[in-house]
Amino acid sequence: MSAGQPLLEVSGLSKSFGGVKAVDGIDFTLAAGELLALIGPNGAGKSTTFNMVNGQLAADTGSIRLGGEEMTGRKPREIWRMGVGRTFQIAATFSSLTVVENVQMALVSADGKLYSMWRRAADYRRSDALDLLDLVGMAGQADRPCSVLAYGDVKRVELAIAMANRPKLLLMDEPTAGMAPRERNELMALTKSLVVERGIAVLFTEHSMDVVFAHADRIIVLARGRLIAEGGPAAIRDHPDVQQVYFGSGKTFEKSAAEKGPS
Ligand code: ADP
Ligand code: MG
Repeated sequence: MSAGQPLLEVSGLSKSFGGVKAVDGIDFTLAAGELLALIGPNGAGKSTTFNMVNGQLAADTGSIRLGGEEMTGRKPREIWRMGVGRTFQIAATFSSLTVVENVQMALVSADGKLYSMWRRAADYRRSDALDLLDLVGMAGQADRPCSVLAYGDVKRVELAIAMANRPKLLLMDEPTAGMAPRERNELMALTKSLVVERGIAVLFTEHSMDVVFAHADRIIVLARGRLIAEGGPAAIRDHPDVQQVYFGSGKTFEKSAAEKGPS
């Protein structure tokens, strides 16, 4: 990858389901160290876009390059190996494991080892797992079972798990779903700190415009599978097409909490 080249380059990407053009020829780029929000109303094509980037869905047309390498046509596991991570919800079956054991499991997987090997070595990379938990402010709860954690803390652990494979690009589809506004802001501030400290790129979706405007470096807007706007928070908030899509004519976004100042 040459200097100045974006980490992720998406061009002409399309996917139809039956007669529905879920994603209709979109182009965007994402640089290392950038937190990019993908927003749009329900059914706009956000999840379909994510699932093409992570390889779960095959694109009909278009190209997805990571560091100049084509990713379309590759299997999800291969794409994960290339450095595309995503946050998973901790499965119910793992909630009986402790916080640190969940991260150790992720390290086992990142190292290409089998879970059955790790069962015989419960201390597998424990200190590395603790470092990852420290990164998300969860080292103090390392030995608690995941099942007893507060919801916002589970989300932090999920972020540590996603970081175990040292992703270059992290995909987060509605990472703050079900969280209270304050927790949403905390999780995205934490994500932004990882983006800056580790130089990773993050693509995320989020329903709360307050959260998007407060934390995203840049925003792209999908409507009916098409990319209708792109820019910084101020430009997107003032964009007439975006306001039209979200609210119909005559309404505007409220100022974000960050811009209102501390309350
Ligand atoms: P978003 O995540 O922005 O809400 P989606 O990408 O989930 O939007 O969906 C975009 C469009 O594609 C919607 O019209 C949705 O109904 C349709 N769609 C998504 N996934 C499928 C699928 N697996 N089969 C059929 N239609 C789908
Ligand atoms: Mg979705």
